Amino acid sequence: MNLSFSREEFLVSIKNHQIQVSNKIKPMKKLTYLSMVMALAACQPKESVSEETELIDTVAIASHIETLASDEFMGRKPFTVGEEKTIAYIADQFKSFGLKPGNGDSYFQQVPLVELDAKPSETMLISGGKEAVELKVGEDFVAYSERVEPINELKDSEVVFAGYGVVAPEYGWNDYEGLDVKGKTVVVLVNDPGFGSEDSTLFKGKTMTYYGRWTYKYEEAARQGAAACLIVHETIPAGYGWSVVKNSWSGASLYLDQTGDAYKPVVQGWITRDAAIKMFEATDVDMKGFVERSRSADFEPIPLNLTATVTVENGIKKSTSNNVIAVKEGTTKADEFVLYSAHWDHLGVGPVVDGDSIYNGAHDNASGSAALLGIAEAFSKSGDTERSVIFLAVTAEEQGLLGSKYYAENPIYPVAKTVANINMDGLPFYGFMKDLTIVGYGQSELDDLATGLAEKQGRYVIPDPAPGKGYFFRSDHFQFAKVGVPAIFAYGSYEHLTKGVEFIENKIVEFETNAYHRPADEVTPAWEYGGIYQDVSLFYEMGLQLANSDKWPKWKEGSEFKSIREK
Ligand SMILES: [Zn+2]
Repeated sequence: MNLSFSREEFLVSIKNHQIQVSNKIKPMKKLTYLSMVMALAACQPKESVSEETELIDTVAIASHIETLASDEFMGRKPFTVGEEKTIAYIADQFKSFGLKPGNGDSYFQQVPLVELDAKPSETMLISGGKEAVELKVGEDFVAYSERVEPINELKDSEVVFAGYGVVAPEYGWNDYEGLDVKGKTVVVLVNDPGFGSEDSTLFKGKTMTYYGRWTYKYEEAARQGAAACLIVHETIPAGYGWSVVKNSWSGASLYLDQTGDAYKPVVQGWITRDAAIKMFEATDVDMKGFVERSRSADFEPIPLNLTATVTVENGIKKSTSNNVIAVKEGTTKADEFVLYSAHWDHLGVGPVVDGDSIYNGAHDNASGSAALLGIAEAFSKSGDTERSVIFLAVTAEEQGLLGSKYYAENPIYPVAKTVANINMDGLPFYGFMKDLTIVGYGQSELDDLATGLAEKQGRYVIPDPAPGKGYFFRSDHFQFAKVGVPAIFAYGSYEHLTKGVEFIENKIVEFETNAYHRPADEVTPAWEYGGIYQDVSLFYEMGLQLANSDKWPKWKEGSEFKSIREK
């Protein structure tokens, strides 16, 4: 293939051929593929198009996306016909590439799940203060229970204000110090002490650490043995309004259903800031400046001399979903693993929007699943690697990263021997990009590897522009990070190669407003595959380098996952 055209000639070729793959232009396959490779060469020094990335078949990836996002796959919801079709498709592809089943002789890992349909009592009663406070469900509080029990009663449980509810040894921080919370209800603030403090050295300043996430608050309260944990909602530090809390934390949710699971509080929930103030006003304890006081490292938990009473009834339904897994065995270091992941699931069939009820999830995450298949196929053709490479398509991401959590807690290949996780969720479909945006930039040495490869492609690397929203904690790589495996989640999402920053900004706003988690997340003729090609090539090369290396990428100083890995 002659790649020695000028940059201008390549740009003309992109323009002429409009890198699109849709039903109408399938006969253009060859030409489209060629122009993609040529266009890639245009944005980088020509010698850096490696022979390796020629193994990435963008046309095949586009076809996987179209299939997985077609109406026939019914929005790929766990436990539906959509799941059966999706996992069969992925497993068949792995098989056709000649990759071995990843779980003994099976391509599937069963993931036991339980659906809990929570119905809290109408009121939460706060007694023992100057006057009784009755909080109203939905309006003042939401409550649920992760216990697989029909009735979960919190009765006259002592209430303690535990600041941010954080135990962070690397910051010398312990909000629970000297406190026994067994049987008690802890009330904690959302986000971490650094957020909104104007102090960039306090935690990570305005970048949310994991200690700021609501999941962390409940996990820590559970480790402490609390009977209940209530998070005080505030829109800015939470990143979303009360209506999101109200809608997302009521009704049925899925959880992992594991015997011998760790302790769970009787009740978990949120209260509005106003409800918290009402509670604080009812006590005779001085709560003035409670946020400021919580930001001090000498903060001590404050017993409120109040008690909380609330009941959560759970409807219980058990089901099993599936992760899909394949492996390419390494030669000399077969017991060391590079792990690729992408979630196959989406939201299924739901409320009708503009006459459509199938939530196809083309971007989220047929694109990542197809990328996983594209990379798996490339590895199947690339010759031997020293380390083994695992391809994992996980279930129930949309329900709380459950498939990846199950794998991380029940790994088929030891996590201590897993060198890195490369996760793909929502690839760019606006054409060639100039940037690679790394979510959670600065966490691990994988960022440096990605930066080198991005530069080779003529792209620059930027950190996630909205680190306060905690996106690093919101896709499957996070479950691997939590067990210590260095993980990367990145995509081109900031500057288009020829149309610039504003073009992408507008596209993203348009997608988030009209298509994100809606039936309109579909493949359209406007999809351009240049950015997908760039990202997939980069991830492939990254995994390939790791698979033929002795190196163990590390978490960086200050990462909340460093100490877990070193254990
Ligand atoms: Zn997703």
